[in-house]
Amino acid sequence: MSTKIRVRFAPSPTGPLHMGGVRTALYNYLFAKKHGGDFILRIEDTDQNRYVPGAEEYIIEALKWCGIMPNEGVGFGDGPHAPYRQSERKDIYKKYADQLIASGHAYYAFDSEEELTILRTEMEAVKSSFAYNAITRKQLINSLTLSKAETDKRLSGAEHYVIRLKVPENEDIHVKDIIRGDVSVHTSQMDDKVLFKSDGMPTYHLANVVDDYLMKITHVIRGEEWLPSAPLHVLLYRSFGWENVMPQFAHLPLLLKPEGNGKLSKRDGDRLGFPVFPLRWVDPATREESSGYREKEYYPEAFTNMLALLGWHPSGDKEIYSMEELIEDFSLERVNKSGAKFDPEKTKWFNQHYLRLKPDSVLADHLKSILRTEFNFSSDDHRMQDDFLLKAIPLLKERVQFEHEMLEVGRYLLFKPTEYDQQVISKKWKDSHAAFFRALLNAYENLNDFNSVETEKVFQETAVSNGLKPGEVLQLFRVFLSGQGGGVNLFGMAELLGKQEVLQRLKSAMAVVGVELNA
Ligand code: GLU
Repeated sequence: MSTKIRVRFAPSPTGPLHMGGVRTALYNYLFAKKHGGDFILRIEDTDQNRYVPGAEEYIIEALKWCGIMPNEGVGFGDGPHAPYRQSERKDIYKKYADQLIASGHAYYAFDSEEELTILRTEMEAVKSSFAYNAITRKQLINSLTLSKAETDKRLSGAEHYVIRLKVPENEDIHVKDIIRGDVSVHTSQMDDKVLFKSDGMPTYHLANVVDDYLMKITHVIRGEEWLPSAPLHVLLYRSFGWENVMPQFAHLPLLLKPEGNGKLSKRDGDRLGFPVFPLRWVDPATREESSGYREKEYYPEAFTNMLALLGWHPSGDKEIYSMEELIEDFSLERVNKSGAKFDPEKTKWFNQHYLRLKPDSVLADHLKSILRTEFNFSSDDHRMQDDFLLKAIPLLKERVQFEHEMLEVGRYLLFKPTEYDQQVISKKWKDSHAAFFRALLNAYENLNDFNSVETEKVFQETAVSNGLKPGEVLQLFRVFLSGQGGGVNLFGMAELLGKQEVLQRLKSAMAVVGVELNA
């Protein structure tokens, strides 16, 4: 029987989840679902100094909004490996640190912060940097250089100590990465990372590897920024004797800024005019606010569709993918190595696409509630009726990317214009057009089937019989009805407004441009 695929998203609650983090969660989710596996949410909160209140709740809410639902984990119901918050698993890690000490793969180090700072400063002065490693550990204060008796004495006293991994000398450590192939690092480039601190807390590296082992994780899919840690993690698996169950690694490419290269950072978002967070976030310490895709009225399906294609290329040219289709098509082999440039305009394009797929009735209800709450329209107003709104929506849908734009773009469908685009009028208006508009008014008054097809036909016929090409007066007609030089389908608008309203609007506009109605 093959092993069940189990993957995890393991954020640290140090702030709001960046969209790069959401993409990591999404790829984990897609991979798990594709293979009938499990997707776990683990909260890595061992570094209490970096803990930010509200961040964990934010992560959970963001995943829910995106429809990226873990099978097990904090906020999503317990599974067989609970608890899933590392601060609640504190007691587990010590045993594993002790195991590494006992097997000679780790050691106690007693150097104080002050002593290490001095060493760092000395090295900086000669343009080098200090590392606690296979060379320097031989001169430092640790259980490798001290006698057993001295070590025991220090351990039983109130002495500060940490447990460090004893990185082997002169070896190449290989990480097999599904996306990047073989990545190797010489141990001279690695330092003896701290695994456990005397405050009883493991560091990220120990807790992460132990939990992946205990939670039977088969694939570690995470951001490229963790690639430098991967050799250390491989070494940890080896030191524990867990090579046969070591997960496979897949390090995802960075998200890059829309212009230039550079990583898309948390600070870029509002500065460049788009959100970098799925949901709005207010920093609890500074009250600084960052915008979110949800509050900007992006649809979650547009957001996740866009994210899925940011670093992964499907087999064909298709760009629109439902979550089910993504699951079907996803593979780690088609994740790119190089960074993926974020395109805010493309994100809007995705939103527009999903907006067009929304049933008209859903958008009509949305518009209705805005008209009620923000414009105090009463329920018997004709603009609140389904037969009006269900005609307005298809016109508006073609011209907007977001629901909130429907009112901005289509205000004139609901309210009579109070101003007319003077530029269009002065460019297009000729006194000889007055006769045409009088004739049009007359023809429309006599038109019974006041629909888009008939109004357009009558418009064209009237133009021709007045010696004009329809195109010469079309934009003027639009300005007269809506005040604006551009907008929704013109004759669709005429049908929606209805005969009486069109006649009234035409008359008012003609009065403004000084056409005698009865000349
Ligand atoms: N806690 C790490 C983070 O915040 C997890 C890295 C990993 O997935 O191994 O991203």
